[in-house]
Amino acid sequence: MLDTLRQPLERGSVTIHRANGSATFPCRAQLVLAANPCPCASAAGDTACTCSALERRRYQSRLSGPLLDRIDLRVTLPPVTRAAWLDGVEPPEPTSAVAARVRAARATAAERMAGTGLSLNSQVPGRMLRDRWPVPRGSLALVERALERGSLSVRGFDRVLRVAWTLADLAGLATPGPDQVAEALGLRLQRVAA
Ligand SMILES: [Zn+2]
Repeated sequence: MLDTLRQPLERGSVTIHRANGSATFPCRAQLVLAANPCPCASAAGDTACTCSALERRRYQSRLSGPLLDRIDLRVTLPPVTRAAWLDGVEPPEPTSAVAARVRAARATAAERMAGTGLSLNSQVPGRMLRDRWPVPRGSLALVERALERGSLSVRGFDRVLRVAWTLADLAGLATPGPDQVAEALGLRLQRVAA
């Protein structure tokens, strides 16, 4: 069922077929998925987990490879510790400060894409991204190796590039460097330990 999300995620549109015709609707959504690392999902995390390695693998495989290939940012969240819960943690950065950074980064991206009819890194087709705004070869060593090893698909390669551009826009850089490419790749390859 989840796999039916693949097409809308890729194309930014969803087509619904019915007996008397079909209709296509725009569907540029930001998809956020959350999952437990295993079926028992112990509140204490791995220390109290009673699942076997096989059970964990089987549970995690319910998110298919092709669907995961379209998820650009994967973040593993550790369980909240008792001390952090009772004592509180440092208040996070206010949303308004983050929003200002995001606005500035989006403006940078829109300026770069002026005249193309696009304004967001996520909208740029892979070929256009590679042809029009090539990232220096030296910055790509890590992703090229991941592609050769098979830990990254061709689609994944373009998706890493888009995230790297966003990180560069957030950092106020003219082009992604090795650090932005490494961070984008790291966010993509994060996995829950089996
Ligand atoms: Zn478990």
